[in-house]
Amino acid sequence: MSKANKKNSNKEKKAYINQSVCDRSPFCPVKRVCPVNAVEKKGFFGGEITINKEKCIGCSKCVAYCPHHAVSMR
Ligand code: SF4
Repeated sequence: MSKANKKNSNKEKKAYINQSVCDRSPFCPVKRVCPVNAVEKKGFFGGEITINKEKCIGCSKCVAYCPHHAVSMR
């Protein structure tokens, strides 16, 4: 892969939450760390936590903050 292609593919990556690993905590640190509020939670307890791909800027901050390693960049 050329340098230019690699740069482009990195730019397009968005955060992805593995729902089978996420504990859906109401105190989710991933939700708090996102600079653009792209992490959305339905309800308080037990609600699914998802990434709004329209908002996500692909900074990957959230990956390091998830205690369950549920977030990856794709
Ligand atoms: S990659 Fe950055 S912008 Fe996207 S959800 Fe994670 S913290 Fe938010």
